[in-house]
Amino acid sequence: MSNVTVCVRFRPLSQKERKANGDRVCFKRLDSESFVFKDEREDDVIFSFDKVFYEDAEQSDVYNFIAVPIVADAINGINGTVITYGQTGAGKTYSMEGPSILHCNKQKTGLLQRVVDELFQCLQSSESLDMWSVKLSMVEIYLEKVRDLLDLSKDNLQIKESKTQGIYISGATEISIMNNSDALERLSEGIANRAVGETQMNLASSRSHCLYIFSVQHGSTDERVTAGKIILVDLAGSEKVEKTGAEGRVLDEAKTINKSLSALGNVINALTTGKPNHVPYRDSKLTRILQDALGGNSRSALLCCCSPSASNAPESLSTLRFGTRTKLI
Ligand code: ADP
Ligand code: MG
Repeated sequence: MSNVTVCVRFRPLSQKERKANGDRVCFKRLDSESFVFKDEREDDVIFSFDKVFYEDAEQSDVYNFIAVPIVADAINGINGTVITYGQTGAGKTYSMEGPSILHCNKQKTGLLQRVVDELFQCLQSSESLDMWSVKLSMVEIYLEKVRDLLDLSKDNLQIKESKTQGIYISGATEISIMNNSDALERLSEGIANRAVGETQMNLASSRSHCLYIFSVQHGSTDERVTAGKIILVDLAGSEKVEKTGAEGRVLDEAKTINKSLSALGNVINALTTGKPNHVPYRDSKLTRILQDALGGNSRSALLCCCSPSASNAPESLSTLRFGTRTKLI
């Protein structure tokens, strides 16, 4: 049965928010698991989660709580996922990559760098290091197409299923990563490719889902078996796009993002209500790729990222409601 941890992170107020709205925030801290949510238009609501990270939380706090158990499990053959959810600007990418994937003070490194560190540390301390390897794939889902961030010529990858591999992205580039610095170089290349795509297609990264997939493999060269997979997902912004005025690509983007995020919500709901035979994984590329991770023998974490500003209360509320539904799994 699957196991989902749901956490909330409020980033610090931005300068822009301070300028526009002063210091008014949308919550009042109760403890490290709950807070009162304040929206001027609605009654106060108390929300509780597995953990709440407030503005003063360190990247290491988030990592230790969310990802350490996932890395340990992956080595033991249990798949794991970390998903960041929230409106654009809420802190999803900061939580994942830190301020920069490569050039970043150690204290501020994100989940990605820390997962890589921990993976290599665990493998190095294992007795038979030469029996282990780590493979990396990076893809982006944009307008329901899966694009390979490690090889831009592959812009419409298909998702398949096999007995031995479970769900996999057919033809996705998989590179062996040898150590931390190698891994970070490769990740940074992939992230840069995402940026190249952006300027070419005028695509803002906030309109696509980005998936970082680590496969931990075990065995000799001719007989490799995947032990566990870790998928880190930086989701597209969950904000509602103003319906009037949006047209063309912007409207297409909004519709597909909406569809895949609500597919994610529906899958989670179906798992929650205990109907494992009727989980609509096939309703979106995102849920299909995450099928094993959410429904199988797995451990997942959802980090709901929120702006603390009163001015963003409606979007934060919608993020918190999504998190609450997920917590019921
Ligand atoms: P998203 O990926 O959700 O659109 P970002 O992660 O890019 O949002 O964050 C938006 C801005 O807020 C960035 O400038 C980022 O550096 C800053 N930020 C986000 N979270 C934090 C945090 N916990 N501490 C400091 N700055 C943060
Ligand atoms: Mg982002």
